[in-house]
Amino acid sequence: HFEGITMAPPDPILGVSEAFKADDHELKLNLGVGAYRTEELQPYVLDVVKKADKLLLEKGENLEYLPIEGLAAFNKVTAELLFGADNPVIKQQRVATVQGLSGTGSLRLAAALIERYFPGAKVLISSPTWGNHKNIFNEARVPWSEYRYYDPKTVGLDFEGMIADIKAAPEGSFILLHGCAHNPTGIDPTPEQWGVIADVIQEKNHIPFFDIAYQGFASGSLDTDAASVRMFVARGMEVIAAQSYSKNLGLYAERIGAINVVCSSPEAAARVKSQLKRIARPMYSNPPVHGARIVANIVGDSALFKEWNAEMEMMAGRIKNVRHKLFDSLSSKDKSGKDWSFVLKQIGMFSFTGLNKAQCDNMTNKWHVYMTKDGRISLAGLSLAKCEYLADAIIDSYHN
Ligand code: PMP
Repeated sequence: HFEGITMAPPDPILGVSEAFKADDHELKLNLGVGAYRTEELQPYVLDVVKKADKLLLEKGENLEYLPIEGLAAFNKVTAELLFGADNPVIKQQRVATVQGLSGTGSLRLAAALIERYFPGAKVLISSPTWGNHKNIFNEARVPWSEYRYYDPKTVGLDFEGMIADIKAAPEGSFILLHGCAHNPTGIDPTPEQWGVIADVIQEKNHIPFFDIAYQGFASGSLDTDAASVRMFVARGMEVIAAQSYSKNLGLYAERIGAINVVCSSPEAAARVKSQLKRIARPMYSNPPVHGARIVANIVGDSALFKEWNAEMEMMAGRIKNVRHKLFDSLSSKDKSGKDWSFVLKQIGMFSFTGLNKAQCDNMTNKWHVYMTKDGRISLAGLSLAKCEYLADAIIDSYHN
């Protein structure tokens, strides 16, 4: 009977928003969940999405089921956006692309593929990583372990630790990499470091598995943010890449993304695609159509595509501005001589503050700043006007 079911713990990321709602302090700040906000801290629907929506309505398309693999026009453009339209792997039809339920659902499909066709193979994830990665691999019964990534001493990358751990992993492991804007740290490898990472992965016959949830949202440029993925592909490696349009198009609730598997031959790609469909069918049958049409229509129309790029740049720019203001506020207010430059070196939506759990509790309990307990803050939930207040809270918490 249901009587025997125990209470599940709240989700560590989504639970933060629930706690935020319950607080009625006027200065409260929600820096928990990674969703873009305007300078007025309101949710933002991209103008280009509104336009695409209007066009869709005018076209009056039907709502019949999509095929299991999703909307063909979407699958075509999503692979082109990621790898570049002229990439030989696309021309040679070596990519198996299947529309997924945003980044999470696409990762989940890849995890199921690994579980089924690489029994016992391990996925290596960064320490730390986005909280849901462990859940996804646990649910798919894929064994995972961690590689070193974050160095608390420098609030930077533990590059040597990372390389040593990837080297030490059993041959043929899957190495999960954040394509850009690492979540939660905001710390990305340099292009040179990416080269060394690719060297080790190749040496050990590992398979790179990219989670790219922020393409275009980190730097403002789709191409710049895909450079890591494209570099691996250019080396002729087999690659998995899960995409999301939650952040870069603000389509959070539409659940639109894709899983791409770059194979060594078009025949292998066709077989992999058939298996991904076989996995998807009993999970959710086929994906939703609306977000897929929005993406396909925006990318397929040069004026809309331009507009999207401009809005992406605007969003990335606002976050960069806030990052600079926060750094300035911290540096000018803190008299301890602490070096805050790590805030500026980080990229993307998040900043890792280096605050420990007790200090995070102080942030929330005393200052009404809601954030995850790993010390991560979402700069997308911050405005220029609130930077000084946040700096006071961080400095107070650090020195407590
Ligand atoms: N991977 C990472 C690293 C993320 O930060 C996110 C979003 N928080 C996702 C995947 C997936 O998000 P979604 O399922 O909304 O696309």
